[in-house]
Amino acid sequence: MPDITLKDVTMIYPFQKVTGLIGRKQKQLILKQQQEMPYTSNEGVIALQHFDCVFEDGTFTVILGPSGSGKSTLLRIIAGLERPVLGEVWFDDVLYNDVQAQERDVAMVFQNYSLYPNQTVYQNIAFPLEVKHIPREEIEEEVKKIAGLLRLEEKLNRLPQELSGGEKQRVAIARSLIRKPAVLLFDEPFSNLDVLMRKELRNELKKIHEIYKTTFIYVTHDQYDALYLAERIVILKDGIKQMDASAADVYNYPVNRFCAEFIGSSTFNLFEDIPVSKDGKYKLFGETYELTNKQQKQLGKEKMLDLGIRGTNLAVANDGVDAIIEYTEMIETDLILHAKAEEKEIILVEKMDGNNEMKYMRGQEIRIALDPKYFHLFNKKGERI
Ligand code: ADP
Ligand code: MG
Repeated sequence: MPDITLKDVTMIYPFQKVTGLIGRKQKQLILKQQQEMPYTSNEGVIALQHFDCVFEDGTFTVILGPSGSGKSTLLRIIAGLERPVLGEVWFDDVLYNDVQAQERDVAMVFQNYSLYPNQTVYQNIAFPLEVKHIPREEIEEEVKKIAGLLRLEEKLNRLPQELSGGEKQRVAIARSLIRKPAVLLFDEPFSNLDVLMRKELRNELKKIHEIYKTTFIYVTHDQYDALYLAERIVILKDGIKQMDASAADVYNYPVNRFCAEFIGSSTFNLFEDIPVSKDGKYKLFGETYELTNKQQKQLGKEKMLDLGIRGTNLAVANDGVDAIIEYTEMIETDLILHAKAEEKEIILVEKMDGNNEMKYMRGQEIRIALDPKYFHLFNKKGERI
């Protein structure tokens, strides 16, 4: 199975030409709207810019980015459904830019399942083998095997409309896997499913990857999907790669403010526009901290920084910043404390130990320990310093 290499891949969707019977005003309006779309050039919408990446055979990569960041475009380019305006797509040492989609050994799973509605689960799964004229007994064996893995044995005679969303997506995955593609692309496959179902399917996907060792490229806007699934996360914004690292590194050492906020966003504390003195000192909650010489250089001329701390890196302690709890919130095994100190909101995450809820309540005075080891510092360009 091949390694897939993208080199300097750039995609621009051309603006639509406005011709034919349409009022002058409307025409101007359409042109204006096109120009005002995000990330536009004169030629059109820039969906992907100078994207470099290697997907090694058998790896599981998650591409994470907000809506419109170019994730689907990237998959479509790998699948051969779109030709990049610039750059190269390699499968091992063969240049694939001009290889048609049908000739690429690539399968894709979409958010909306795209099953054949009038065929049973069995027929849907068997379809890719049937078109290859594989003997019936062999097909049956393969379908049974894969249905077993995806817990579909009992559903083989049903029609798609008789399945839950999660089951439909399992069928779609089984149908893609059965032809043993070199690479399997997932375009936000779990977005239509509820939280529990998503968790279940994430587990199954990991299990399947362990067994099949197919190259998986999975795109999502959901940070939890990414943190849970990935050996490796590639973060995209405005069609530009921001970071390419392990889940732990993305969480602990985000390269810029965008990545820091995008991952763990609900409990990320950001204190903006903190002034830095000429000798590199800054204050947070009355305490003075100091930048290294290198950080001072990276700070730039604004002499201001933005400071982020994850709620998971803050703790209630005997000594620290005085704060008052405004409200608490339970999310699974975490107790989230929303507190206020010096008029600033602070969010802390405490692990539930059965007594936490009693221990912390609205209006209570607490102290919060700040450890500069966990400070994420950014200059005003948003770069980590
Ligand atoms: P994502 O999957 O991350 O939401 P997409 O790859 O679908 O992002 O889109 C990236 C950008 O390209 C967006 O600004 C989108 O509007 C634009 N775009 C995507 N497909 C087309 C298309 N066929 N024609 C014109 N613009 C497109
Ligand atoms: Mg998309």
